[in-house]
Amino acid sequence: MARREEESLGTAERGMEEKAEARLREILGKMPYPASILLFTDEKRNEPFNRAAREVLRVLQRVFPRVQVKEYDLGHEQAREWKVQNSPTLLFDPEHYKIRWLGAPIGEETKTLIIALQMLGYRSTGLSDDSRKIMQKITSPRHIKVFVSPTCPYCPQQAVNALNAALAKPDLISLEIIDIQVNPDLARKYGAQSVPQVFVDEKLIARGAQPEELFMSSLEKMEEQRIYIPESDASELETDLVIVGGGPAGLTAGIYAARSGLNAVIVEKGVLGGQVATTPVVENYPGITQVGGKALVDVMVEHALQYSRIFPGEEVMEIQPGDPILVVTNRRRFKTKAVLLATGARYRNLGAPGEARFSGRGVSYCSTCDGPLFSGKKVLIVGGGDSAVTEALNLLNIDVDVTLVHRRERLRAQEHLVKSLEAKKTPILFNTEVQEIRGDQQVREVVLLNSKTGEKKTLRVDGVFVAIGYDPEVSLAKKVGVELTPDGYIKHDSRHRTNIPGIYAAGDVEGGYKQIVIAAGKGSEAALTIFEDLINPYWKKAV
Ligand code: NAP
Repeated sequence: MARREEESLGTAERGMEEKAEARLREILGKMPYPASILLFTDEKRNEPFNRAAREVLRVLQRVFPRVQVKEYDLGHEQAREWKVQNSPTLLFDPEHYKIRWLGAPIGEETKTLIIALQMLGYRSTGLSDDSRKIMQKITSPRHIKVFVSPTCPYCPQQAVNALNAALAKPDLISLEIIDIQVNPDLARKYGAQSVPQVFVDEKLIARGAQPEELFMSSLEKMEEQRIYIPESDASELETDLVIVGGGPAGLTAGIYAARSGLNAVIVEKGVLGGQVATTPVVENYPGITQVGGKALVDVMVEHALQYSRIFPGEEVMEIQPGDPILVVTNRRRFKTKAVLLATGARYRNLGAPGEARFSGRGVSYCSTCDGPLFSGKKVLIVGGGDSAVTEALNLLNIDVDVTLVHRRERLRAQEHLVKSLEAKKTPILFNTEVQEIRGDQQVREVVLLNSKTGEKKTLRVDGVFVAIGYDPEVSLAKKVGVELTPDGYIKHDSRHRTNIPGIYAAGDVEGGYKQIVIAAGKGSEAALTIFEDLINPYWKKAV
């Protein structure tokens, strides 16, 4: 990276660090109650992770006296008393709660640790009213296991959901947060080859991150719930603009709308940053030659937060057009003058037999999240675009044995990415399609067909990473009656207006080039149009 670019990103990151530190002081420095943690380690097992856990906790204890850490060797009688067997293990205020963390709270998981300390130190969970009502229905014990990884941006949301449950009902709910990198044996035992995954009393109840109420419903019903209908008495907020989606388009729209004087909110059901959050490396975002996707997202979110309120982990269930427009989420209702659909795209499925069955058991769509589990193992990456090649390079970096399979005879990824892949002598199977993914508890082999020769062969692999592009996320648009193009994108005019007055679209959901800078540009353009339209509504002139 050129020196000046390094400096500009470095300055942005330093600025963020300072703000994060100030926020941390605000949160952990003023806790009314102590937050106590017992750390158990055995220097003969997982010492790099033991050391990392020790370092993080010692720093927190030194800076924030309310964080009280006691360290024990795994041979100590305290370990017997609390039945601790894994190294490292953290127990959170074990006199009052049954919460243990098998692993080191590093990377993305540092966020989870800070929130856990905050919950202990303030003795409050921050659960929504609806979640509390669901929790009241739980009357028998539940033991939760959440599998996470420090490189997974989706994991803190699900770990925090589980912490909320364990803190809200300490008499009935116990929790283990299990880091798959530190405990690969446990991940294998449960077939948890993607993160996050949640088991309750040994039964799988959720794959991927869920909004809080869906997590609580899944926990209550002991099976995965996909829909949560909010209570009609949910709280109501009045705004000028509700932006649905917290990817580059939505975050940029939030900044530009607020700068124009609109009261804008951003609602995101999944992970902020969308696809970018799990892109290992982003190249050529203006001003930055190369940056990790998550680092770029963090800077964008921090920036958007200066202007707009963001509601993460909240799902828009319904939009009722009108004046005002009513937007119903799983937490509240918004009365708003305009809605911007910046719902982005979701990864495309291969459609091969076995793909759905082995999803989370060797089939993955996120190398950043699940890659570490395949270190030293053999995987197939499917696809020929920038995503497939970037993911391949990412996995090669963490010692995964990668073979790429592409249905055509040349890759469509950028030349320099292809050259990097070739330099690593990565096997590439051209003109080849995946016909089937097979296995038992996990992926064992794939059946491949060479479309030129008609030859079929079986390849033994431990995992399959699917990176074949994205489809627009239009389910909400369809539900509201927003018209789509024949290709399935949101139909819009040159100013991002849809067929419904007051409802706009921006970003990947509109089609066209899928680049972060373009999504951001569309977001800003849509926000400016909305500002002008709200002063001078085109739909009123048309009447
Ligand atoms: P993409 O460019 O649409 O490429 C998808 C690839 O998957 C194509 O090679 C396609 O084959 C193949 N494919 C599609 N459907 C398939 C199926 N059913 N079975 C087998 N193969 C299938 O998608 P992408 O790679 O995810 O990239 C999306 C956008 O993000 C692009 O604009 C890209 O530039 C950008 N991106 C940039 C970076 C970076 O800057 N480092 C990283 C990741 C993504 P065909 O070639 O036959 O169509």
